[in-house]
Amino acid sequence: MDSLEEIWKQILDIIARDITPTAYNTWFSDCRAVDLTDCKLVLHTSSDFKRGIILGRFGDTIRAALYNLFSCSFDVEVLAGDELLDYEKAGDRKSPYPEMDGYNFDNFVVGPSNKFAHAAAIAVANNPGRVYNPLFIYGNSGLGKTHLLLAIGERILRDHPEFKIAYLKGDDFTNELIHSIQTGTSEEFRGKYRNMDLLLMDDIQFISGKISTQEEFFHTFNSIYEAGHQIVLTADRPPVEMATLDDRIRTRIEGGLMADVQPPDIETRTAIIINKAAALGIVLPKDVVDYIAENITSNVRQIEGVVKRLTAYKEILNDTITIGSVKRAIKDVIRVGAYIPTPEVIIEETARYYFLQPSDLRGQRRSKNTAMARQVSMYLMRNLTNLSLVDIGNQYEGRNHSTVLSSIRKVEEMLKSDPDMAATVRDISSNINSRS
Ligand code: ADP
Ligand code: MG
Repeated sequence: MDSLEEIWKQILDIIARDITPTAYNTWFSDCRAVDLTDCKLVLHTSSDFKRGIILGRFGDTIRAALYNLFSCSFDVEVLAGDELLDYEKAGDRKSPYPEMDGYNFDNFVVGPSNKFAHAAAIAVANNPGRVYNPLFIYGNSGLGKTHLLLAIGERILRDHPEFKIAYLKGDDFTNELIHSIQTGTSEEFRGKYRNMDLLLMDDIQFISGKISTQEEFFHTFNSIYEAGHQIVLTADRPPVEMATLDDRIRTRIEGGLMADVQPPDIETRTAIIINKAAALGIVLPKDVVDYIAENITSNVRQIEGVVKRLTAYKEILNDTITIGSVKRAIKDVIRVGAYIPTPEVIIEETARYYFLQPSDLRGQRRSKNTAMARQVSMYLMRNLTNLSLVDIGNQYEGRNHSTVLSSIRKVEEMLKSDPDMAATVRDISSNINSRS
């Protein structure tokens, strides 16, 4: 790819052909190219007056030249005077993949619990498509899967800025697919992911059990894989435990490299605490670090939550950080862990999972899918909240405590024999909890 200067030089040569050298110098001696994005060329000149002339007299020529070079239409924006400073400031904040902000290999603490996954991630980031394909990272929530996935993306983007990279969650893929079917744009949807250089798909447990999604995912996977491009996937459990995962996808995953992340040991937890505090600009007393490391053992997200709260106490309340404030912070974070969802959230998430509207679940419709979704939502309400059967019945039209009870019993029966149902309940619960 030509550099921005070279492209601008080519355009200037075209302009120069049509005007006198004096005119050329007047308008373009201090005009330079600042940025070229997907569909816009940004220029800078010294004054508002010159901007008017450049756009008014030469705008069409510039756009035509860009069209010739790239075979697509570009906008032209001209910044004048100080506007450049603002533009550059905004640019510092702007990243083509905002999700990757803050997740990299430098701020990932490595210990025995994640050493293997980390090494695999580095190998893939350094040799995309060449070593382990796909790379599948799995483990419980809050142990760094998304962090590693995005760190791979960040490294590959740095080394190969020209790569087409997609980062998405399993249920985004499903939702986009459904949307594309509804709007008749399935072809665009297919094209969108099948020719990526790097596919980062987070939480693929959300596609298991959904037939059309798995079908589409399988083809997407194959196109990318066969082109020799890299795929990285994460999930909260290994493929064998995804009862409803398409066998073809399972086989593909098992043919790549699978790496798990485990809860960190105490030394790693200690290092993570010190590291997160440093990133937030505070140094915690040693007894505080030890107290957190001893008390929060299974989830790095919670460790991070405690450190963030301590930082806030210090900044807002000007508190010195003591064991007392740590206890308070831990209590806050754990309480979030024991989040009790509202009936609205449960109905919304269950409806979303079954591609229905909340009003379908609350109403009287009796189609099989709707009835099933309604029963599952009642079961979840019973298990995730403290509501009585009567309270639960009141969420639905024409249901009393005994119809609620028989619905819940039905789901419980199915859970005993049907692994699909277990996976469904687990997925919806996890979606509900992610709204805490
Ligand atoms: P998961 O995707 O496994 O649920 P995340 O990757 O979202 O977990 O991690 C949760 C939080 O904990 C993130 O903010 C992440 O930066 C942090 N984290 C997890 N593991 C580590 C680690 N080894 N070093 C530094 N931060 C970590
Ligand atoms: Mg995650």
